[in-house]
Amino acid sequence: MTTPASLTDRYQRNIEYLRLSVTDRCDLRCAYCMPEGFKGYEEPDHWLNFDEIERLVAAFARLGVKRLRLTGGEPLLRKNLPELAGRLSALPGIEDLSLSTNATQLAKYAEQLKRNGVSRINVSLDSLRRDRIEQITGRDCLDRILAGIMAGKKAGFAPIKINMVALQGVNDDEIDTIVAFCLEHEFILRFIESMPIGSTGREAQFLDLQPVKQRLQERFGLVEGMLPGGGPARYLKSVDGKFSVGFITPISQHFCETCNRVRLAVDGTLYTCLGQEEKFEFRPLLRGGITDSELEDAIREAISLKPERHEFREEPCKIVRFMSSTGG
Ligand code: SAM
Ligand code: SF4
Repeated sequence: MTTPASLTDRYQRNIEYLRLSVTDRCDLRCAYCMPEGFKGYEEPDHWLNFDEIERLVAAFARLGVKRLRLTGGEPLLRKNLPELAGRLSALPGIEDLSLSTNATQLAKYAEQLKRNGVSRINVSLDSLRRDRIEQITGRDCLDRILAGIMAGKKAGFAPIKINMVALQGVNDDEIDTIVAFCLEHEFILRFIESMPIGSTGREAQFLDLQPVKQRLQERFGLVEGMLPGGGPARYLKSVDGKFSVGFITPISQHFCETCNRVRLAVDGTLYTCLGQEEKFEFRPLLRGGITDSELEDAIREAISLKPERHEFREEPCKIVRFMSSTGG
């Protein structure tokens, strides 16, 4: 009997999750992510095409990667994304295909994506107030986001996760409102601490989520819980198990020792950690006639570069690239 393949890094972490950025472009300008007036986009010639992406993901899957997330930038801006989803979800070894989106275009694509094998979606929603969404994202788009979320619900995505970057003095007064919204619609809610990624991330009004967690636990009578998938969020659940709220706390309580993921940017650069510079370029190899077995060796080499942990606290000025370019 052959043992299933697995990708293990130098710190004995099993890497089984790939986040795939299909574009570095976005229709929004979230204050903590992408600066207004940003011009440093990747050249279209440098974007991996669908054949290159499929070949690379297939190689990751042969080595044990099981879970794949389409992200960006805003992934729904990549032309023919549902076609790519269909190709990737059909790859042997890929058990779970999900999508992170700002949902502005989701109403248009939800059903097609569901049909083509995307099973779960995460949506960024930092406020339920129209003026505030405009202030945070730079665009008047709350109605489109909500329409997208509801189209996702109707299309049958389950679970739908709502991600809110909680910012001191910006949207922290809406925490309970978002909890009520997610309770009503049976969405899983996650609060995220802002990370010092790029100048935008560094300038964000960081909010420590530990006191928020404690307050919500007491106010709603929540208990510690787990969700399948082994992600970074620490969860609280209602006693009847119907509501879950997660806390992604890279700064106040980091989770690097259980990190199971790497990120592929649209130009074929694999980033092995959000908060470090270690990276590996796949585009020249894919375009230079590499064989499948050489590609697998290259993936193992890339994974061996994964650092032990980020240093957002110790070196907050280290990461100059923006989250939208890395693939969040
Ligand atoms: N456009 C999609 C979206 O907004 O969901 C996918 C890409 S976005 C870069 C992925 C996630 O990164 C979002 O949940 C966003 O809130 C988060 N993000 C972006 N910049 C961040 C930062 N500086 N700190 C923490 N989270 C950040
Ligand atoms: Fe765009 Fe997502 Fe970044 Fe907001 S967080 S600017 S939606 S990529």
